[in-house]
Amino acid sequence: LHQLPSAALPQRRFATVANEAPAVDKHEFQAETRQLLDIVARSLYSDHEVFVRELISNASDALEKFRYSALRTTAESELAAKDRPLEIRITTDKPQMQLIIQDTGIGMTREELVSNLGTIARSGSKQFLEQLKQEHQAAQATSNIIGQFGVGFYSAFIVAQRVEVYTRAATPNAPGLRWATDGSGTYTIEEVKDVEYGTKIVLHLKTDCREYADEDRIRAVIKKYSNFVGSPILLNGKQA
Ligand code: ADP
Ligand code: MG
Repeated sequence: LHQLPSAALPQRRFATVANEAPAVDKHEFQAETRQLLDIVARSLYSDHEVFVRELISNASDALEKFRYSALRTTAESELAAKDRPLEIRITTDKPQMQLIIQDTGIGMTREELVSNLGTIARSGSKQFLEQLKQEHQAAQATSNIIGQFGVGFYSAFIVAQRVEVYTRAATPNAPGLRWATDGSGTYTIEEVKDVEYGTKIVLHLKTDCREYADEDRIRAVIKKYSNFVGSPILLNGKQA
């Protein structure tokens, strides 16, 4: 039997009735990730809106990855729903204080959710933590460093108190998955029905960041950051 480090083993909460509600896997964030999330969530970083740039750029990357693999494969069976529209859909929900950023790109498998969102792979974030250790976490230094290196996906926690990611990889039989966390030590992954191919990120905004559930506010931010995006961006169903 292989000895796995205990951190690699998710704690599985089985449904009490067999064959009913599917299991929810609970995972701990890697220590470095937890540290980064903590800093991002508590920071006084004033340039809140950079999270829009980061999440749109991830959506755009996911669409590019899908386009690239769609070009390379000819077998319809190898890449699910090849003919879907390739776009970014942004939805604001003011009453619910939600901002939703969805793409129809490559999506993520369960393993990819764990390695991409549960650990810090990107070099920018690693550099960020290194730099922080050196600068002894003065608030101003933290803000400068967030601005300088960027924190990618984790920038969602600048404005969100809770984040859900719905995703389905572009391979046949890939299940729909839901990843969720409130940014403290753990996140969950479970299989869910009716997930579209691609990735949908639901931000449950902090009360003092509710402005990002406002359509006009978001339109202005998108205009600022979307020059580099090679796919259409729809805001509440209309060209942004
Ligand atoms: P980076 O974009 O620099 O790699 P991020 O922190 O922004 O770092 O994202 C981490 C990883 O999570 C990405 O490399 C990608 O693999 C995955 N990811 C994030 N958002 C999406 C998305 N919308 N669709 C598919 N994968 C994503
Ligand atoms: Mg990114």
